[in-house]
Amino acid sequence: MKDLLPGPAGFEAGGAVSNVAKRLVKAIVLFGSPGSGKGTQAKLLTDCLGIPHVSTGEMLREAVRNGRGVTPKTAAKMHAGSLVKDEVVEALVEDRLSQPDAANGFVLDGYPRTLAQAQHLTGWLSQREAHEVVIHLAVDYNVIIARLTGRRECPRCGTPYNVVLRPPKVDELCDLDGEKLVRRDDDREEVIRERLDAYDRQTRPVLEYLREAGGRVIEVDASNDPPETVFQKIGRAMEN
Ligand code: ADP
Repeated sequence: MKDLLPGPAGFEAGGAVSNVAKRLVKAIVLFGSPGSGKGTQAKLLTDCLGIPHVSTGEMLREAVRNGRGVTPKTAAKMHAGSLVKDEVVEALVEDRLSQPDAANGFVLDGYPRTLAQAQHLTGWLSQREAHEVVIHLAVDYNVIIARLTGRRECPRCGTPYNVVLRPPKVDELCDLDGEKLVRRDDDREEVIRERLDAYDRQTRPVLEYLREAGGRVIEVDASNDPPETVFQKIGRAMEN
């Protein structure tokens, strides 16, 4: 799909900014509720485009695991399914996007999730004369619940599974390395409800903001199709 991803009008960086900024040609934002498949599509996109996957959820979980860079309060918020403070996430993202491997672009997954974060991102990009391309994965509420409650992953290689929709060959074991699959700490029913509430209250309005901010927003119906088909839909939409 690499060849099919032209920079939309105004997307390519240029003008009197640093060389790094000039090379920033692909800023992709994957947008959608928890369980909409952002992580899966982000992996497919990054493999195809050779740009990094920047997942704020993953970065935060990693920081909690290492006990570095986040306070117990942040860890508690994640555990409860509510959003962590904007400043914490903004600092993590800014640091990550400044790494050399992100100079040609990146796929953001789970950011921005509040209006303040969206303003922060659009400001950061416009300083570099770049614009985001937003891909909105629209998924039916009931499908989301089924996906999140059945979700498991391999703790060693990160391969995602679903006990109902995409079960491993042997019960609860990873097909690739035989490791026992785990459930994410926040994929418990009461926490799922809180995460979906946070999405409705704080994150959904961000899509309207991004639309009005002038970036391109691509709508993709991602309720019923397998990931490969959703990925093809994204590719076709980006071609147009
Ligand atoms: P999902 O999209 O499946 O809910 P993520 O892995 O993206 O999960 O995020 C897990 C948790 O990390 C969120 O519930 C929240 O506590 C925290 N988090 C991730 N990204 C952000 C963000 N941009 N702003 C605030 N909190 C975030």
